[in-house]
Amino acid sequence: MLNFDGRAALVTGAGSADGIGFSIARTLAKGGARVAITSTTNRIHDRLRDLGDTGRHAAFVADLTVEAEVTQLIAQVSKAVGKIDILVNNAGMIQTGKREKFALFHKIAVTDWRRTLDINLDTCFLVTRAVLPQMLRRQYGRIVNISSVTGPIVTNPGSAGYSTAKAAMMGLTRALAVEVAGKGITVNAVGPGWIETASSAPSEIVAGQHTPIGRPGRPAEVAAAAAFLASAEASYITGQMLVVDGGNILQEKKGS
Ligand code: NAP
Repeated sequence: MLNFDGRAALVTGAGSADGIGFSIARTLAKGGARVAITSTTNRIHDRLRDLGDTGRHAAFVADLTVEAEVTQLIAQVSKAVGKIDILVNNAGMIQTGKREKFALFHKIAVTDWRRTLDINLDTCFLVTRAVLPQMLRRQYGRIVNISSVTGPIVTNPGSAGYSTAKAAMMGLTRALAVEVAGKGITVNAVGPGWIETASSAPSEIVAGQHTPIGRPGRPAEVAAAAAFLASAEASYITGQMLVVDGGNILQEKKGS
């Protein structure tokens, strides 16, 4: 068990009880961190109750595509749990009440393209930019971006926007890692494959069953990787992506 005693963490996109973000929040809290969680809807307050010690942890509603809401969120989080040592940028892919759109490249509407980049990439940029001054002042920080294998390594038809955003997240991860490497701050990513969450489509569960390990991943398996990169012990790892995909990207021979 990694020890996060005395650390303050912010995990974005932790609204779903079965999601990756909440699993990461729970792992950090179990390790002793004071954890702030956020999502766009009031269900985040149910997750705070699920975390247990409501006096120790905190929950906030914010749309992280909106700069002013991000600024306000970071001020609230710092007041509630302390200066942020660990930032996990997990928000993305899907938002309650909004439909995730898949379209072949030549049919992507400009508004849908911008929206996909907004929720998957700009959320990470805005939150990281807002948290970074605290980390620079204190010469300590662990930033973990939940990217994906989709984009940086593999992809699927109809996923150009999502793939672009998740690959760009890796560019952000590397560029920032180099800027802050001498300042006690590491910036890494986790690349989940087919993980079974409340957002998984039936076809994605089937795809998970065809990985070498033979099942979709569990949110807790992504959380374990994120927690390691968020730990003090991961001090000499920066700018990297840890793939959690049951060996899926290793399979060269398909269809037999
Ligand atoms: P999820 O539980 O639905 O997580 C998405 C979270 O992001 C929700 O809590 C949602 O907020 C939040 N969010 C969306 N738009 C937001 C915005 N504008 N501002 C603030 N928060 C916003 O889905 P998940 O499957 O666990 O995915 C979590 C992350 O893992 C995503 O970044 C996804 O791309 C990545 N990932 C997932 C898989 C997989 O197989 N599941 C694979 C690779 C990567 P609300 O709660 O308000 O809706």
